[in-house]
Amino acid sequence: MDKQFLVTIKNKLLEKEQQLMNEMEDLTGSGRSSAGKYQLMPPDYGSDEDENSAEVAAFTTDLSVKEVLESSLRDVRSALARLEDGTYGICKYCGQPIDERRLLARPASSSCVNCKESIKSRV
Ligand SMILES: [Zn+2]
Repeated sequence: MDKQFLVTIKNKLLEKEQQLMNEMEDLTGSGRSSAGKYQLMPPDYGSDEDENSAEVAAFTTDLSVKEVLESSLRDVRSALARLEDGTYGICKYCGQPIDERRLLARPASSSCVNCKESIKSRV
């Protein structure tokens, strides 16, 4: 794989990692929550009898957003690790190189389009 391409990918991954960490910070309210580009404000549910379950639902939503961020961050970091050990861009299922356009669009991808599709159709 072309060296310049890998540099581009690495920059994208680092940028993504930073962005995810910022979102995580905003979400947990530590640090610069006043920047507020990703504030999770509890919606106004009114005061009907469903209020409590709505609050629980809002809390659950917070948690799942955090989980999504955490798993994205894991993907980005494992992609960076694969860049380091030279296995980046290889599909983890079939061992074939992943299409570069796919990698540019989704730098944290660890499987090729074909495998991704066949996994989806199996579910
Ligand atoms: Zn594959």
